[in-house]
Amino acid sequence: MQDISWKTRRKGYWLFKNGKVKKEVDATKRIHFTVLNDEENRQVTYDKIKDSWSCDCRFFALKLTDCSHITACKLFMRDENAG
Ligand SMILES: [Zn+2]
Repeated sequence: MQDISWKTRRKGYWLFKNGKVKKEVDATKRIHFTVLNDEENRQVTYDKIKDSWSCDCRFFALKLTDCSHITACKLFMRDENAG
């Protein structure tokens, strides 16, 4: 279990609740998402084979742990699977 801060979680939840997550491509091996952001949109990728996530933001590049964008996409997927 990755240790993500409450701030990251709160921001991710906010992004998801406000409809900022858009699923772009659902391919065999990967799913691509766009997360709409204030300044710049973020590209989030889920690798189905490795079961791993990545994002193009600086937070992820530095910490290699779930950022708010990835958190938002995870909530999006959970919601989609539940329905
Ligand atoms: Zn990110």
